[in-house]
Amino acid sequence: MSTWWPVSLLGIFIQTAVWAQTRPTDNATFIRSLYRDTAYTNLKARVVQQFAHTGAGRWGEFVREVDEDLLTNRKVIALTFDACGGRYGSGYDRQLIDYLRREKIPATLFVSGKWIDANPDTFVRLAGETLFEIENHGFNHQPCSVDGQSEYGICGTADLPDAFDEIEANALKIQCITGRRPEFYRSATAYMDEACAKLARQLGYVAISFDVLSGDAVPNTPAADIARNVLTRIRPGALVIMHFNRPEWNTAEALQVIVPQLQKQGYRFAKLEDYPLKAINR
Ligand SMILES: [Zn+2]
Repeated sequence: MSTWWPVSLLGIFIQTAVWAQTRPTDNATFIRSLYRDTAYTNLKARVVQQFAHTGAGRWGEFVREVDEDLLTNRKVIALTFDACGGRYGSGYDRQLIDYLRREKIPATLFVSGKWIDANPDTFVRLAGETLFEIENHGFNHQPCSVDGQSEYGICGTADLPDAFDEIEANALKIQCITGRRPEFYRSATAYMDEACAKLARQLGYVAISFDVLSGDAVPNTPAADIARNVLTRIRPGALVIMHFNRPEWNTAEALQVIVPQLQKQGYRFAKLEDYPLKAINR
């Protein structure tokens, strides 16, 4: 290995220590700081050069290098909740989070930089609870693309440098605030191209999709339908996707049906960091 990596990582470490004291939570300020940091800009330049001839590959929710399930045959599943932020919802579903706390149900929370900006105190509180694992849902909540793909009307990142910022800037932002570097990255909408999944892997993160789509994000989906979507598709190791940034959706109500039903069937709940992961659709 060249000496470049340790030097670079050291630079990021030092910068992280400085940021940790000032706790920058504003995306615009934070990215300006990163662009002034040579550890960040050198890493970006190196990765961009490395991927210069890598084609975008397939675009989708289940592309190569993306994991979707816990590697276990036991009755264990992972509940994951996204917080998208910006015009995709910067609310906080307190009822949902309080239910998880009350029932001591561990969960993985994928959080965007924009959502953190709108909920800095809530974010810090959630990150301090061992019940929750905080992971990366992108800096600006853009689907991760090296050539400007869009999904559900949401503009993806325009190119490789843009994709780098979307993944790495939010990972560093989370690390600066919480002291823990995320392990996983879920692209906005869960769509990404193969190059971005590879890029995440190169940066040290596992790209994550999902196995069981709760459908809570489809407008006006009744709680009973969300619960049915989950309960009919659940199986050992399944990774369920829901949201905790839209209290007006019926996610919390559905969850209070889903959890007791699954417990009755003998299921337990785990965070992503608790199990090795696998892909199901390669
Ligand atoms: Zn999202």
